[in-house]
Amino acid sequence: MASTCLILTCEHAGNRVPPEFREILSPDHPILSTHAGYDLGALELARHLARRLEAPLLFSTVTRLVVDLNRSVGNPALYSRFTRPLPRETRLRILERYYHPHRDRVESEILARVRKGHRVLHLGIHSFTPEMGGKIRRTDIGLLYDPARGLEREFCDTWKECLERADPNLRVRRNYPYLGVADGFTTSLRRKFPPHRYLGIEVEVNQKWLFSRGKGWLDLKQTLSESLAETLGFS
Ligand SMILES: [Zn+2]
Repeated sequence: MASTCLILTCEHAGNRVPPEFREILSPDHPILSTHAGYDLGALELARHLARRLEAPLLFSTVTRLVVDLNRSVGNPALYSRFTRPLPRETRLRILERYYHPHRDRVESEILARVRKGHRVLHLGIHSFTPEMGGKIRRTDIGLLYDPARGLEREFCDTWKECLERADPNLRVRRNYPYLGVADGFTTSLRRKFPPHRYLGIEVEVNQKWLFSRGKGWLDLKQTLSESLAETLGFS
């Protein structure tokens, strides 16, 4: 896949509350430092991958409690309990200011490369909580893709093998903790670009690595970037 262009994105990169929403959501609200506010560690990992792979990274640091950039317009989870009750006009302004700019920019970066005859590998970098509803999630890394798109399946299989070879203790699962075809940014982009031109993969990393003492998180970032380089034939 040497002729493939890599594009990295991070839809839940930060927990910033734009000034106009500080009355409904105080920047001191404890929820902002939790997974409900943003994906802990995701931007750091995305930056690490972008440096190692020399790939462009597009991200948004506005908290998903204002608007969730990984949901389609019409999805009930697009707005949070803080922004859903706002007047329709305000919600439309949110889309204009904080949703469409990121989504449109990513789409046009992909389109520019596709028009030049390249294939684009888009990796959306996310993280998930180590515990959900009282259940411990033991998986370390999830690779989300559409099983009906052969190139996506092939890429994830190869990357999974490289990851497990680099660190046999890692638990890598396909389409975990969510399905790659569930509503998300990559799912909506798949409708716009053909399978041989666009591969949309979400990378989900267990946040337990962020809280682990010692070199755990550093090692994980390294393992992810080196195995990705190997999968893409960069190394
Ligand atoms: Zn996320």
